[in-house]
Amino acid sequence: MTPFTHPEFDQHETVSFCHDAATGLRAIIAVHNTHLGKGLGGCRMWPYASEDEALTDVLRLSRGMTYKAALAGLPQGGGKSVIIGDPRRDKTPALMRAMGRAVERLNGAYVVAEDSGTSVADIRLMAEQTRHVGGLADAKSVAAGRTGDPSPATALGVFIGLQAAVRHRLGRNELKGLCVAIQGVGNVGYRLAKHLHEAGAQLWVTDIYAPAVERCVQDFGATAVTMEDIHALDVDVFAPCALGAILNDATIPQLRAKVIAGAANNQLAVPATHGAALSAREILYAPDYCINAGGIIDIHYEGPAYHAPVVEAHLQRIGLTLTQIFERAAREALPTHVVADRMAEEIFRRD
Ligand code: NAD
Repeated sequence: MTPFTHPEFDQHETVSFCHDAATGLRAIIAVHNTHLGKGLGGCRMWPYASEDEALTDVLRLSRGMTYKAALAGLPQGGGKSVIIGDPRRDKTPALMRAMGRAVERLNGAYVVAEDSGTSVADIRLMAEQTRHVGGLADAKSVAAGRTGDPSPATALGVFIGLQAAVRHRLGRNELKGLCVAIQGVGNVGYRLAKHLHEAGAQLWVTDIYAPAVERCVQDFGATAVTMEDIHALDVDVFAPCALGAILNDATIPQLRAKVIAGAANNQLAVPATHGAALSAREILYAPDYCINAGGIIDIHYEGPAYHAPVVEAHLQRIGLTLTQIFERAAREALPTHVVADRMAEEIFRRD
């Protein structure tokens, strides 16, 4: 299937197929929209079953980055890249450098950062071949203990967004005694649990990796639950922090939480259907790409001038943007994900 006829094609500006004979690199870079700035997005390395699967992923993900950056108030557009291959088996320094050259050929329309299957070390190898890299802590930041890992900022942004959602839907300013179920307590979920615990919330957690659950039980007095039960608990907030498509035909009728606020990308299995289903059940959904934007906000400020209070002030705006979305959704009787899309489009399509 060619990009122009692909169902995920959405007026993307550039779709570049990259090949390097010496290293065997096969990659696709998609730049969705650069009206607000360069198309920033991660480079995902994954053993895609087919080229079409890789194309689907890169078209969808790059579009998502445009919306995320616009709502986060960042002067940047949306891009993404995928390398077809198994990161454990096929990744070599030469392959990463070849990817860096592919990024360089786009002259800055695309800025590469880490994603699933790539690490900060890989981006450093790419940076030997291109200036167009994001999210790399410079020597001064490293000396100050910064790693370039965006998860702490993502978790803080989700915490701020969760507070805004609780205020809007439950009329509570205080999180003391709030009951929250977290699905996935990895890099972001664990840190979100920490913020919630410190604010006095009661936690229920699950993860496929047992030690991650045990750590939350030990550190925060969380209650461990099974993976099958987590979404259906009688809690105030359900926070998906593991995988996409968790809000679907099977789970939505079982939800008892009044608020959905978590870090996972693409939480709605079919946005039109499942966003409307949540809205019909009066469950307030914090659109994923708005609430989890802390990471790209952090990446935006990475560099010699990084100043934590400035970044934190920007993260606070996630709560304000969500409140605007919630209020407009109520006024216009629309699902929150529809309003988020419209608000983002109003920003990046503005001339
Ligand atoms: P992570 O891999 O560190 O953590 C995810 C956790 O979910 C892992 O502990 C994993 O074992 C667990 N998990 C996987 N499948 C599960 C299942 N079926 N049930 C329960 N637990 C399961 O990833 P992360 O960086 O914490 O990111 C979490 C989510 O947030 C992902 O969807 C990611 O795309 C999204 N996100 C992350 C960032 C960031 O800065 N890290 C930014 C934006 C969005």
